[in-house]
Amino acid sequence: MVKPISKLKKELDKWYSLYIRTKDMDSKGWTECYTCNKRDHYKRLQNGHFISRKHLSTRFLDDNCKVQCSGCNVFKYGNIYLYSKRLGPELSEQLYLKSKETLKIMRHEYQDKIDYYKSIVNKKIKTLDNSLDF
Ligand SMILES: [Zn+2]
Repeated sequence: MVKPISKLKKELDKWYSLYIRTKDMDSKGWTECYTCNKRDHYKRLQNGHFISRKHLSTRFLDDNCKVQCSGCNVFKYGNIYLYSKRLGPELSEQLYLKSKETLKIMRHEYQDKIDYYKSIVNKKIKTLDNSLDF
C-alpha cells in the first residue's frame, strides 16, 4: 500500500525531531534547551521551530529547529524573542525569507529523508551509556 503524504510527513516529523534532540546530547542522553539552557533528557525535550512548522520550506532545516523544553516551546510559544536573539538578526531574517518560498517534497523524497534521519538517530542512540536513569 502506498503511504499518503500526510503520513510520511508525520513520520518525518518524528524522526527529524529525534535527530534534533539527540544531535548534541551527552553520553547519558542529556541535552539543553536552546532558549533557557535548561538541561534535560532528550526524551523529555522537544524540537522547537523558530519559524512555525506550517511553512514547509523551513520545517526540516537545522537552522530553524533547535532543542527546546516544553516550557519554552509550548508555554512561551517558542520563546521567540530569545530564539531570534540567539540566532542573530541575519539568520533570523534569512529564515523568515526562506519560509516564504514554496517547497514541494515528493513522496520518494520524504522516504529518503525518513531513512536518512532514522539511521543517524539509531547510530546516535547506540552510543548512549547502558543506563536507564534519565
Ligand atoms: Zn527552555
